[in-house]
Amino acid sequence: MKKLKICVSACLLGFKYRYDGTSDFFTELVERLKDKADFIPVCPEVESGLPVPRDKMHLRTSSRGTRLVKVETGEDMTGFLDRWVDVKLEQLAERNPDGFLLHSRSPCCGLNSTKFHNPAGKLLPQKTSGIFAAAVRRRFPSLPVGDETDLETFLGKLGLRDNGKNR
Ligand code: SF4
Repeated sequence: MKKLKICVSACLLGFKYRYDGTSDFFTELVERLKDKADFIPVCPEVESGLPVPRDKMHLRTSSRGTRLVKVETGEDMTGFLDRWVDVKLEQLAERNPDGFLLHSRSPCCGLNSTKFHNPAGKLLPQKTSGIFAAAVRRRFPSLPVGDETDLETFLGKLGLRDNGKNR
């Protein structure tokens, strides 16, 4: 059986790329898919050139749409990330991925699970998607995109769910 190609947030694969220098290794993903899929690690923040560790960032509304800003200083990093995202998505498209499994709640990778703030940095009630996740959805509208909080649904969309057992 031909292996699938799954783009995965690198921190879920054990890369210590989070803003505080940690990973969030998702053991179940690797155990269940290691024989069925090749993983393509992707980290928008590190691959775009940000250091580890780095300043914490979050998403804010603005008249120019959703912005990615540093929490402490309010520095707007949106343009910095957007330039990388455009190039990266074209590179990934050439590899014909079968899906994306992204890290929840991240300002870059979160999928409808990321905290949202007003222009002054005050927390809003609604959740949104990170800037990379939103761009992935736009660029690959027909591909399964999921996060680690609902692996079963993601596997189902890939045709790999079998009552919790590997096929
Ligand atoms: S940007 Fe995404 S892949 Fe990189 S550390 Fe944050 S959640 Fe993980």
